[in-house]
Amino acid sequence: MTLTEMRDILKERDLQLTKSLGQNFLHDGNQLRRIVAAAELSAADKVLEIGPGLGPLTELLLASGAHVLAIEKDGRLCPILRERFGKLPNFVLLHDDALAVLERSVAAPPDENARDWSAWKLVANLPYSVASPILVELAQHPHGPERMVVTLQLEVVNRIAAAPDTDDYGLLTLLLGLNYEVSERFKIPASCFFPAPEVESGCITLRRRKQPLLNAAVGRVFVRVVKRAFSQRRKMMFKLLKADWPEDRLHEVFLQLGISPQERAEKVSLEVFTKICRLLAT
Ligand code: SAM
Repeated sequence: MTLTEMRDILKERDLQLTKSLGQNFLHDGNQLRRIVAAAELSAADKVLEIGPGLGPLTELLLASGAHVLAIEKDGRLCPILRERFGKLPNFVLLHDDALAVLERSVAAPPDENARDWSAWKLVANLPYSVASPILVELAQHPHGPERMVVTLQLEVVNRIAAAPDTDDYGLLTLLLGLNYEVSERFKIPASCFFPAPEVESGCITLRRRKQPLLNAAVGRVFVRVVKRAFSQRRKMMFKLLKADWPEDRLHEVFLQLGISPQERAEKVSLEVFTKICRLLAT
């Protein structure tokens, strides 16, 4: 889908793009192909696309033969997508708020909203304002996607892939890192989007860990620990964790793992956080 085609569709329908919905459409064929290549799709795959927009990425996803479930919040775009792809047997469009769909999908069967995403791949140029909550929701889902190939603000890409003891390292790194590993990432110039966003963008691929680092119960402790530990970034982690765990127990755990009570959360690796949580959960 070229930039001219995009402009023509918008003009024909007299559509004004909505900034709050993050409507920056990707028209660069090379970048779109790079994103689809990172997903390594075959006709056997099931793809979740959040925010198909006018469908430049959808078009390539469908061409791979994969089954595509696209969720678009903007009702003005749905007739365009149905016109373009509605006749294809591998395309399903849902007019809904993707975040709400994902939140509801955590339910257990027989609830009709329940969904197991574990055999799915998320491939999306995400609306930037809700990109982090969407990724956290899927990363914490009991049956999260096997792979997530997502285009985001570069700043968020850097936070996801950050190493400890850097400014970017924090809650997002850990909440996604518990169940997912970063496998590749690349920058996408602003000129590849229409209209060009004010921030830099990048694409990141996350693969679900083959072996979870923690079981579901300790995983819940992990979420509580890291949220508390990063609630005040400059404060000592020990002092913050005292709000949730008895001081004596924390002393034992910190001593056993050789962590100084003066340590700040930003210096503590994912591996050490998992060790803390395994001990606190016993
Ligand atoms: N995939 C298209 C592309 O690459 O050109 C559009 C990407 S654009 C960055 C984000 C899209 O997400 C827009 O079409 C917008 O309407 C849609 N959107 C925004 N918030 C949404 C939400 N909560 N749920 C589903 N779609 C949403």
